[in-house]
This record gives sequence, C-alpha cells and structure tokens, in this order.
Amino acid sequence: MKIKSADFLMSNSSVEKCPNQPLPEYAFIGRSNVGKSSLINMLTARKSLAKTSGRPGKTQLINHFKINDQWFLVDLPGYGYARVSKRDKKTFQKYITDYFLKREQLVCAFLLIDIRHEAQKIDLEFMQWMGENGVPFSIIFTKADKLKPGAIERNVKNYLDQLLSGVWEEVPKHFITSSSNGMGREEVLDYIGEINESFFERI
Ligand code: GDP
Repeated sequence: MKIKSADFLMSNSSVEKCPNQPLPEYAFIGRSNVGKSSLINMLTARKSLAKTSGRPGKTQLINHFKINDQWFLVDLPGYGYARVSKRDKKTFQKYITDYFLKREQLVCAFLLIDIRHEAQKIDLEFMQWMGENGVPFSIIFTKADKLKPGAIERNVKNYLDQLLSGVWEEVPKHFITSSSNGMGREEVLDYIGEINESFFERI
C-alpha cells in the first residue's frame, strides 16, 4: 500500500467522541517506550505524525489519524509506565478497555512488543484480555535492528513458544519491524490493505 495522505484528525479521552465515520480502524498499543510513535511515523513515512517520546506516558489520549482518506490509524496511550499515578492509570485503563469493547470499526489491534525483551506479564495479560473479548489483534515486534538476524529469529521463536505454552492454541499473526531501517513496513501496510479490501467488500 502506498501512503498518499496521513492527517491528524482528533484526540480525545472517550470512545463516544471518536470519529463517526464507517472506515476500518487499526489501533496501535504497547508499553511506553516500545517504539510506537517511531513505528507510526515509519509506516506513514511522516517524520513526526506521532510524537516520539520526551517523557513516556505523556500521550494519554485516543489519537485518530486518517490515512489515504480510507482508514484510521489510532495511536493509544502506552501502558505500564510506573510514573502514571494509580488514579490516572485506572481511568486510562477504563477508556482503553472501553475503546476496545465498543469501537465497532476496529478491525485489528497491533500490540507492539520490543523484540529484545522477554515476554512481560502486562502484555500477556492484555493479549489474554483481547482474546477473551474477541478483539482481533496482531503482534508487531519492534526495534529489530538492535539484534542480529539469528537473535531476531531466536527471540521471536521464544516469544511465540511462550504464548503456545500458555493460553494460546495458535500463534497470532506477527510482524518483525524496525523504524530505523524500515524493516516490516511493506508487510504491515499490505496486511492493512488486505483487511481494508475485505472490509469494503462487506459494505
Ligand atoms: P513510544 O513511547 O512507544 O512511542 O516509543 P518511541 O517511538 O518514542 O521510541 C522510544 C525510544 O526507542 C526512542 O529513543 C526511539 O528513538 C527508540 N526507537 C524506537 N523505535 C526504534 C527502532 O526501530 N530501532 C531503534 N534502534 N530504536 C528505536
């Protein structure tokens, strides 16, 4: 898929206020510092469409971007950042969960995982929650340029094996990306393109 346009539309803190347009929507979520902003900028080929972090945990809003006048890219707050107060954490979790449960246009959530790290409890719990609630999701491994090819393969295999040894019977669709060198860009965009096609066939 070619990116012809990528425009910021709005930020808000409740699913009820999200744009009311029948376009397929893709949400990006992950722990703070996982590389979400960088990935969004890499995918859209825009230098600073999403802000890259000064202070993690800063962007605690649902941010809608309209791509090619055809689909929405949604940048959700990073989770698991310790400096967010308990009270803030609760409200942001509620509006994130609300978003996932109520947003009918959502066709795929991309859960970002830093390829260098062992599986983290918070990500595993979130995946399980999405599974239980029927939220379709894929995994995007980030920062692959930080590892050698052998280590990439090893880490991804370990990660997926861990999912299989837990509650998952099959591994979710997954992508290996680097915002530094563009790895995985075509694959993710083509996947979005495929889902868009079936979305528009249905209506
Ligand atoms: P966010 O908090 O998830 O939005 O993460 P950012 O996109 O702000 O990235 C966090 C840090 O990781 C920044 O210092 C980025 O420069 C760095 N980073 C993000 N993606 C990559 C990547 O693919 N490769 C490398 N080497 N660094 C990355």
